[in-house]
Amino acid sequence: MNKFECDLIADLLPIYMDKKCCDDTRKFVEDHIKSCDECREMYDAMAREIPTVESSQKKKKLRLSPVSKMALVVLAYWAFVVVALIIYAYIMINGVML
Ligand SMILES: [Zn+2]
Repeated sequence: MNKFECDLIADLLPIYMDKKCCDDTRKFVEDHIKSCDECREMYDAMAREIPTVESSQKKKKLRLSPVSKMALVVLAYWAFVVVALIIYAYIMINGVML
């Protein structure tokens, strides 16, 4: 298989997998995959990867929301503590200076 076509397929595969390419492109990719072992392997690898990537992203999102809420609470708490300390230090310094 010629290198140029394989490079082209490598570029086109992501949009082919997302079904965002036009019919001619889809046909070109499918014809090439049928006749080129390397690109068919690449296609198979991507076809295997895509569902796992999507499901792991969904899992991450579901896990992240309570975690990020916790992080926000902790962050708000620390912001409060830091502000309180700054105010306390300000009063102390001014108290000493006055
Ligand atoms: Zn190829």
